Amino acid sequence: MPFIELLQSNTVALVATVLVLGLLVGSFLNVVIYRLPVMMQNAWAREAAEMADEAEPELPRFDLIKPDSTCPSCGHLIRAWENIPVVSYLALGGKCSQCKTRISPRYPIVELITGLLSLAVAWHFGGTLHTVALLVFFWALIALTMIDVDHQLLPDSITLPLLWLGLLLNLGGTFVPLEQAVVGAVAGYLSLWSIYWAFKLLTGKEGMGYGDFKLFAAFGAWFGWASLPLIILLSSLVGAVVGIALIAIMGRDRQIPIPFGPYLCGAALVYVFWGGAITNWYLGSFA
Ligand SMILES: [Zn+2]
Repeated sequence: MPFIELLQSNTVALVATVLVLGLLVGSFLNVVIYRLPVMMQNAWAREAAEMADEAEPELPRFDLIKPDSTCPSCGHLIRAWENIPVVSYLALGGKCSQCKTRISPRYPIVELITGLLSLAVAWHFGGTLHTVALLVFFWALIALTMIDVDHQLLPDSITLPLLWLGLLLNLGGTFVPLEQAVVGAVAGYLSLWSIYWAFKLLTGKEGMGYGDFKLFAAFGAWFGWASLPLIILLSSLVGAVVGIALIAIMGRDRQIPIPFGPYLCGAALVYVFWGGAITNWYLGSFA
């Protein structure tokens, strides 16, 4: 395949292609971020009705494909040219073409972040299997971060496949030998599970959820058990920085529930790009 060979040999072609791909995927992630939690709620409603022996609620088809996207204000069907990542938002001046209601800037922001992060992965890792794998990894993390911010929820339908994929990739030792990946998956889950129960028994409060354990297990599956202490340390640092910023911006009395998932994701990002450098610097400071 000449196009694949071109991408492997030409960094500019690779980075440009991945940027466009990232923007398009970002547009799809907006759909996932909005629709997946609604699909989960619909599924729970159906299960609850089934358990209560009631008739299943009649819900119209709602998944990642259908219904077509419409303006939430006027119901105007979004046409293809109005759905071009970032470009359409700018061309429309951030407003619906029909009723002129403002469109949230978070849609183009998610698209832009997905595009730029994809570009950074391609730039850093080049035309390798690492790039392909890490693109999928970060796309999943963007969806998880936004869903956790919106709903304090990390869907199993994303965290568990991410875990399996990490183990599969490391069958061939893509990131770490398989033994380290398997131990990493178990250690990731059990370490946060233990902290959760210790914290809950001591304080009666819940600091995180089971989704966080599964996400941390996925990180262990991808990068091995040895990556976990650094990722948890980094997530505390990211959490402290964001926490202080939130207090400074919103005032300290605001009792907003802050999900832990986005900090884990931020820490994994730092680990992927700079984990090796941080570890070398740390070990070097003892030498
Ligand atoms: Zn409209």
